[in-house]
Amino acid sequence: MLFFLYTIGCQMNEYDTDVYRHFLYQYGFQSTEDPYMADFIMVNTCAVRDKSIKKAVSFLGIAAKIKKEKPSLIVALTGCASTLILEELKNSSYIDFVWGALNQTEIPNKFSALLAKKGFQKTDKVQTQHSVHFTKELPIIFGCDSFCTYCIVPYLRGHEKSLPKDYLLSELDKAALAGYKEVLLLGQNVNHYGSDLDPSLTFAGLLQIMAGTYPAIRFDFLTSHPKDFDIQILRVMQNNPNIYRHFHLPAQHGDNEILQKMNRGYTKEEYFELITTIRSFFPMATLSTDLIVGFPGETDTAFGHTLDLIETVQFDMIFAAQYSKRPGTPAEAFPDQIPETTKRERINTLLEAQKRISKINNRRWIGRRCKLIITGKDQEHHFFGKTEEEKTVSIVSDSLVIGSEVSALITKIDNGSLIAEAWSL
Ligand code: SF4
Repeated sequence: MLFFLYTIGCQMNEYDTDVYRHFLYQYGFQSTEDPYMADFIMVNTCAVRDKSIKKAVSFLGIAAKIKKEKPSLIVALTGCASTLILEELKNSSYIDFVWGALNQTEIPNKFSALLAKKGFQKTDKVQTQHSVHFTKELPIIFGCDSFCTYCIVPYLRGHEKSLPKDYLLSELDKAALAGYKEVLLLGQNVNHYGSDLDPSLTFAGLLQIMAGTYPAIRFDFLTSHPKDFDIQILRVMQNNPNIYRHFHLPAQHGDNEILQKMNRGYTKEEYFELITTIRSFFPMATLSTDLIVGFPGETDTAFGHTLDLIETVQFDMIFAAQYSKRPGTPAEAFPDQIPETTKRERINTLLEAQKRISKINNRRWIGRRCKLIITGKDQEHHFFGKTEEEKTVSIVSDSLVIGSEVSALITKIDNGSLIAEAWSL
C-alpha cells in the first residue's frame, strides 16, 4: 500500500506531515512520489496566502480524478486551510477525512479510526524509507497570540500552548538514540515559549537545558519575533557552540507607519538595534528575514524604506511575498489596497536588490576556515555541508560521510555557491 503526502506551507506543516508519515508506516504503508500510484493521499494545507489555497484546490482536483478511477483511494485533508477549502469546493464527497490545525495531537486517534474502518491494522514490521536521520523538527509551542493584522494564523491555530519541558527532553532522548544530527525547534513565535507553563520557563532557559544536555546535537530555532527577542538567548548561544549562529528575524517591513498598521510591535530603529546587538555577539552570524510588499497604504516612499532596510542589514537571505488579503483579518478591510501590478514591480525590485547583496555577502566568506557538518551528497562526489552559521557550502571529496564533521577552507564562489576544500587544523 502506498501513500502520497502533499504539503503546502510552513515548517510546522512539514513537521505535521512527518508525524502522519510515521503514522502511516505503522500501518504498513510505503511512500510514493506518484499520486496516481497511491492508495492514500493527504493534502496538508496552508492558509497564509491565497496562492497556497489555490494550490491545494487544484491538487484536490487531481485527487478527485484519481478517486474516480480508483474508488478505494483514501483522500484526507488537513492543515490551516482545510475548512476554508471545503467551503470553496463544489464537490467534496470524495474526501474521506478532514481535520483543521487545532488539536493536532488528536489526529493519530482520528486516523486510527478511519484506517480501522477501511480495514487497515497496525503492523510490527515498520519500514521507514529514511536511511540517514539528519534533522529532527520539534515544535515547542503551538498557536500564536501576536495578531499581526495581515495574518490568519492566530484564528486558525488558536492561542499559544507550550509543550512541557519533560516531554520535549524525552523527544530529544529519542532523537539522540535514533542518531539525529540536528534539531530544529519550531513555533510561530518561539520567544513566547513557557510563559503558560507552571513553573514557567523562558525560551532561553529551555535552549540552555537542551543544548547543554545534548552537546553532540546542533540546534536551530524558528521563528523569532523581533519584538520578543530576549538578549539572554545570545548569552546561551555564547555558552553553547552547538547552537547555529543563524537568526531568522521576520522584519516584514522597513516603514514605521506600516509596521504599526501591521501591529508588529517594533520600529525599524528597534529592529536595527537588535541586529547590532546580535552582531556584537556574533560578527559572522547569518541573518534572514521575511518581508511583505504591497501592504495596504504602502507608498513608494514606504516601499523605499524596505529597500533601505535590506541595504542596512545586508541579510544573507530574504523571503519576500506580495501582500494578499486573508479573510477575517483586520488588514482585509484596510483602505488603499495596492494594485497587483505595483506589488509585482516592487517585489521584483526587492529581489533584484537582494541578489546583489547576497553576492557581496558571500564574498566575505572566501578564505575562511570553518567546521562543516556534512548534510548531503550529489552524484558527482559533491558533498554539502553547513557551517556553524548555517551557511551551505559545497565540498568535493571521495571520502566524506553524511553526518560527520570536517574542517574546511572556503576557496571560491561558483554559480552563487560557496566551494570549500577539506582542511586539517
Ligand atoms: S507572529 Fe504575526 S505573522 Fe507570525 S504567526 Fe503570529 S500573527 Fe502571524
